[in-house]
Amino acid sequence: MYDLIFGPINSRRLGRSLGINLTPNKTCNLDCVYCECGKTTKLSNKREAFYTTEHILEELRKKIKSVGHIDYITFSGTGEPALFKDIKKLVTGIKKEHSDKKLAVITNATLFTDQEVFDAFLEADLILPSVDSVLEIGFSKINRPHADLKLKDILASLLKFRNEYKGKFWVEVFICPGINDSEEELNAIALYLKKLRPERVQVNTLDRKPTEAWVKVPDQASIDRVMKAFKDFSVDLVLRK
Ligand code: SF4
Repeated sequence: MYDLIFGPINSRRLGRSLGINLTPNKTCNLDCVYCECGKTTKLSNKREAFYTTEHILEELRKKIKSVGHIDYITFSGTGEPALFKDIKKLVTGIKKEHSDKKLAVITNATLFTDQEVFDAFLEADLILPSVDSVLEIGFSKINRPHADLKLKDILASLLKFRNEYKGKFWVEVFICPGINDSEEELNAIALYLKKLRPERVQVNTLDRKPTEAWVKVPDQASIDRVMKAFKDFSVDLVLRK
């Protein structure tokens, strides 16, 4: 689905960006029901050197040379980028070689518990962590995490990161009707987001084929509950027309 380096992609949020997919398809520490990359076939929480840093940097150099101007280099793709073992070395290499470009990280936020990941992501210009639920039931039903992941630790480490981080910080929430669109779920997320202080909250809804066919687009009543619960934030609602 994604090459190691893919794009450029033009978007309202990031301008012209190149993506780096740091995990082989489909390795992740979550198996989200809405994932557009399909079922996680290797559910792993082990950080591995799937590629060498030198190889990634070389591929990036070649790609940038061929595509011309880009605004962002973005870690995203078919799995959690922090599972790439040499993330710190890679971030340092990118910042050194491409200081005129910004670095964004799209992350499921599960590995801020790891000090190396924490330190690496502090150097990024924009972090986009996902927070789909702050309740155990919602987290387990939507994100289907690896057994080693503990929601309490994830939420605490993300908060700690936020308090040290100086770059842009935009949270993403995927609305999964019937699971995290109740008032209880949404208010719990909103309470946590108040502590996280994101500059923007992107509310995602079903857009492409999900891993589980039962995931649906939220109805108007659900959207109304979301907008009410998140009324104190700058919300971008992504809703299929
Ligand atoms: S964290 Fe991202 S890549 Fe991993 S299963 Fe969830 S949506 Fe897919």
